[in-house]
Amino acid sequence: MPTNCLFCQIIAGQIPATVVHRTERLTAIRDINPAAPTHLLLLPNEHIGSVAEAQPAHAALLGELLLTAAVVAQQQGLGGGYRLVINTGADGGQTVQHLHVHLLGGRAMRWPPG
Ligand code: 5GP
Ligand code: ZN
Repeated sequence: MPTNCLFCQIIAGQIPATVVHRTERLTAIRDINPAAPTHLLLLPNEHIGSVAEAQPAHAALLGELLLTAAVVAQQQGLGGGYRLVINTGADGGQTVQHLHVHLLGGRAMRWPPG
């Protein structure tokens, strides 16, 4: 685990966060600066810097992130719809270099995003 990675430290319990779902392979937390009434982050427990750094061996884990996002969305009462976002790299707006899926819901989303 990179010792300077914020999300690795959250997953390890070294930095507090509101955990809403946790398995052996992934953790879902509340975003500290929510951009919607419900704003969760789904994190692989294993450090992967971004989608661009993911390897073929991560295929099942990447699929599990999306499937879990759907399950958690239902649990959070987002049956009417929600948005999943994966910011990737500097131009993609990624600010934390540990792959994460944003789950946003509780309001109507606009398109295109900024
Ligand atoms: P990115 O910009 O990399 O796609 O998303 C990073 C997200 O992490 C942002 O939405 C930001 O609000 C969130 N974030 C940054 N620091 C923390 C923190 O310490 N705790 C939690 N729960 N979320 C954080
Ligand atoms: Zn990490």
